Order: sequence, then C-alpha cells, then structure tokens
Amino acid sequence: MTKARIGISACLLGINVRYDGGNALNLYLREELGKLVEFVPVCPEAELGLGIPREKIRLTGNPQRPRVFTIHTKIDWTEKMEAWAAGRVISLKKENLRGFIFKSSSPSCGLEQVKVYDADEMFQETGAGIFARIFREHFPLLPVAEETNLLNQALREDFLRSIFAQPV
Ligand code: SF4
Repeated sequence: MTKARIGISACLLGINVRYDGGNALNLYLREELGKLVEFVPVCPEAELGLGIPREKIRLTGNPQRPRVFTIHTKIDWTEKMEAWAAGRVISLKKENLRGFIFKSSSPSCGLEQVKVYDADEMFQETGAGIFARIFREHFPLLPVAEETNLLNQALREDFLRSIFAQPV
C-alpha cells in the first residue's frame, strides 16, 4: 500500500542537523506516525549550507516579513534563504506531499510564535520562520502543524484526518 508522504523538519526525526550538531527527536512522530506515513525530511539551514554545527540565526525587523541574521557575526542570510526556499518548494511539488510537520520556534521552520527582534536586538513580536512562510505561500491548502500542536489529541486527530482524507 502506498503511504501518504509528509514533509517534516529533519531534526524531528532525530537527524543531527541542528545548529549545535544535535537533533530534536520526537519519538511519537518517528516511531508511531512513521508507521503510517512516509516522511520527506527537510532542513532549510543545513540544505542552504550554513553548516553543522553553525552559528545560530534569528529573525529581525518586520514581523510579517523579517530578515534573518547570524546572531553574533550579523551575517544577513535573508536573500539566500528566501531564494533557496523558493526553489525548494518547487522541488517539493514533485514529492506529492499530503502535509508538513514543522519544528516550532525555529527562525527557519516555525509556523508561528517565532521570536522576531528589533534593530536594537530587543524582542518585539512573533512571526513565522522563513521557510515555513514561503512553504505556506506556495502550498496554501496543505495541512501543516508544528510538533507541539500534535501533543494535543484533538489537534493531532484533526491534522491526521485532513492528511488521510486526501487521496494518495
Ligand atoms: S528546525 Fe528546521 S532548520 Fe532548524 S535544525 Fe530543524 S529542520 Fe533544520
């Protein structure tokens, strides 16, 4: 039987792609949901070439369309990240995804509630990570969730229902 294909932030599967060389393994996703679906892992920061390990990045400026800088060296990765994401969503079209599970709080992958700082490096508001924003613009109808949403049984059932309701 063909399994539904779901995109996922790679670190949630236990792949060591985080800035510190570690991961953010979510056992439920990998061991339980992984029996029912086929995951398509994506790590925007590693795929862009920021390295593993790497300096942390964060969002700055307009919360609706923030820029992204390395925290200490202040390198501006905005244009490169946006261009990479625009190309990656086109390649993901061929993967026939039924949904995407994003890592919360990440300046690349977070769907919402990601910290956005002002020019004085003070926290000002929250927004979406750059890859997550561009993914949603490109796939406005695909079900999406953060791993933290899926801890809630009702939200998890909603998400799974919307995935499995689609023809594979
Ligand atoms: S949150 Fe996204 S960018 Fe960060 S390590 Fe995980 S997959 Fe990579």
